[in-house]
Amino acid sequence: MDADLLRGYLEFYQDLGITMLYRRAVPAPDAHPEAVVQEERPADLFPVVAPSGETLPDIIADMGDCRRCRLHEGRSKIVFGVGHPTAPLVFVGEGPGADEDAQGIPFVGRAGQLLTQMIENTAKREGIALKREDVYICNVVKCRPPGNRTPEPDEMDICGQFLVRQLLAIRPKAICALGGTAARALTGHKEGVTKMRGRWFQWRDVPVMVTYHPSYLLRPYNQDAKREAWEDLKKVLHFVYD
Ligand code: URA
Repeated sequence: MDADLLRGYLEFYQDLGITMLYRRAVPAPDAHPEAVVQEERPADLFPVVAPSGETLPDIIADMGDCRRCRLHEGRSKIVFGVGHPTAPLVFVGEGPGADEDAQGIPFVGRAGQLLTQMIENTAKREGIALKREDVYICNVVKCRPPGNRTPEPDEMDICGQFLVRQLLAIRPKAICALGGTAARALTGHKEGVTKMRGRWFQWRDVPVMVTYHPSYLLRPYNQDAKREAWEDLKKVLHFVYD
């Protein structure tokens, strides 16, 4: 079976039960009226102790030539993240693909080109002056999983500490989770992306909008999903930039 197709099925049917990246949800009723008030959740399994004032270059330096999990074995380049270091909006994907692994930059392949178009075209249509470089883009895991498989829970646990530190350094106003893996890792919810998309969740006190992964939208029979993703993006752009 085609790897992309398999990944699509996994997005819908997988129930990984990832618990690492979220923390007790604190509803912020004024921040986003549609906020989902989540039930009490356990604290991070791996609480991240990040020195206050830590910057993205500090985190990159600490990451070094990372060999903390098996994903380092097949990687060419660590794909840390790209964009404005204090962007009010952060997009989080799953993990680097082949193009990203070769260039060391997230979302530069076909899915990345679609993401860039989605961000810039939706913003333009909504009267918001926004370019890709104004937001920050990264992934749950920073090294390419072999054959673009979904990262394993232990890989996400290990690499997730860097995502947490990234988000703490950037301090965005909102996060957009691209696809089920990022959505489940950030929120701790176990539903499939079709149920979560278009809704507000929280990572710590930061609102998280869930939408489809651009790779899923690249498949030709997903016209409805494309329309839904554009709606999700409109919501998050207006929340952040109005
Ligand atoms: N898919 C992802 O989840 N991240 C990338 O950087 C590229 C493709």
